[in-house]
Amino acid sequence: MSSALTDGGAESSIPIGPVRVHGLPVDAQSRCVHWSGPHDVIAIGFRCCGRIYPCRDCHDAVADHPAKLWPLDEQDSQVILCGECTALFSIEEYLSSDACPACGASFNPGCRLHRHLYFA
Ligand SMILES: [Zn+2]
Ligand SMILES: [Zn+2]
Ligand SMILES: [Zn+2]
Repeated sequence: MSSALTDGGAESSIPIGPVRVHGLPVDAQSRCVHWSGPHDVIAIGFRCCGRIYPCRDCHDAVADHPAKLWPLDEQDSQVILCGECTALFSIEEYLSSDACPACGASFNPGCRLHRHLYFA
């Protein structure tokens, strides 16, 4: 299991469970100004900077670099955060299910349309 998540320091971010969520989060379930529906409770750790953001738009709004996609052979990384129960789980688990493996919260199925923004 590889994980390169880092603490963000001074930038605007909120603590959710064991991590900090960066970007433009609007609540403690990791919803953001871009995605704030009832099922938008996922945040994703980015490979480029090790920071967790609610979405790609949040990353691009505050990061000073382009986002990197997760390569296939690193999708066992535990970088997906469930905003409902604050469990961290792997990209593999996320992509193979529509619900949190820890608490069963269902995820926004529309996120599947955007997986190319995060994963190779
Ligand atoms: Zn980044
Ligand atoms: Zn966002
Ligand atoms: Zn959960």
